[in-house]
Amino acid sequence: MSGISDSFQRPISYLRVSVTDRCNLRCVYCMPPQGISLMPHSDILRYEEILSVVRVAAGMGINRVRLSGGEPLARAGLVDFVRMLAGVREIEDLSLTTNGVLLKGHAAALKEAGLARVNISLDSLKREKFRQITGHDRLPDVMDGISEAERVGFAPIKINVVVMRGINDDELLDFVRLTGEGWNVRFIELMPLLQGGEQPQFVPATEMREIVSSAGRLEPCQPPEGNGPARYYRLPGARGTVGFITPVSDHFCFKCNRLRLTADGKLLPCLLAGAEIDVRSALRAGASPDDIRRLVLEAVAAKPEGHRVRQGEVGQTRPMTQLGG
Ligand code: SAM
Ligand code: SF4
Repeated sequence: MSGISDSFQRPISYLRVSVTDRCNLRCVYCMPPQGISLMPHSDILRYEEILSVVRVAAGMGINRVRLSGGEPLARAGLVDFVRMLAGVREIEDLSLTTNGVLLKGHAAALKEAGLARVNISLDSLKREKFRQITGHDRLPDVMDGISEAERVGFAPIKINVVVMRGINDDELLDFVRLTGEGWNVRFIELMPLLQGGEQPQFVPATEMREIVSSAGRLEPCQPPEGNGPARYYRLPGARGTVGFITPVSDHFCFKCNRLRLTADGKLLPCLLAGAEIDVRSALRAGASPDDIRRLVLEAVAAKPEGHRVRQGEVGQTRPMTQLGG
């Protein structure tokens, strides 16, 4: 394995793949109230096309792949696709980010197909609040999905909570209590990505930490698995961890190790910078593995030093459902 680094000496080893822009929820911070225009099906990469990009990237040093969306479990055939990816020798860590609504029915098959880990997004433990945030009354399905994922042996399971002022910031301690039962909870700062309309309000991680600290002393600890951008802590006696992800207040661009592939086949050097490298056109014009390799190198070379969200600049106009989070 060769290994690639960008212009700022950051090793690039992680590819985040959005397999669909479709979703079965409508989270207030992710989908604008007027909805989004969906990509035509013909624009979306076929699984075989994604696989060919992953194979080339894996030969260049990418050893971690995360599937996201939209809602990845809303795309038919995902389990078989996971099996294809699990067969790529260089991929050491294959994971999925899901809203959990369809997880109960798929968890066992995903595990058997070779998925290593699953992160579940869950912004409220209260049924009515969940419905208000997501537009759908599916909290019981998500909770069943989490239980099933635990039952079939996914570990550690991480729960992602996007914290919004006046919406779910009163539930931080309820989530933290669940670390006592082994949950790994990560509180995420809201990124201002919605264009126009009213956006939920951001809560800085410093404030989240203050709230969480009232439950006990936060001991810094190692991540439960993987080496993502969160900082992790443990409350005395808890099996699980509390993490904070701070894309806005304290961004982690200096250790960014990732590229993204959108559902319509664009390689993104950065979630927030806007540059795109068109792999789909190349694939459909008969690109060779060497041609794809050149495009991956182009994406790596285009990685900016950092984003400027804190300065109010978001260079991205795509909705999060196309970016994969
Ligand atoms: N549908 C799946 C899910 O919700 O887990 C996968 C796609 S979703 C875009 C991936 C992650 O991005 C989720 O954890 C979601 O909470 C997060 N996300 C979406 N919009 C966000 C925003 N504006 N700020 C912070 N996180 C966001
Ligand atoms: Fe769908 Fe995930 Fe976006 Fe919520 S955060 S609308 S579940 S893609």
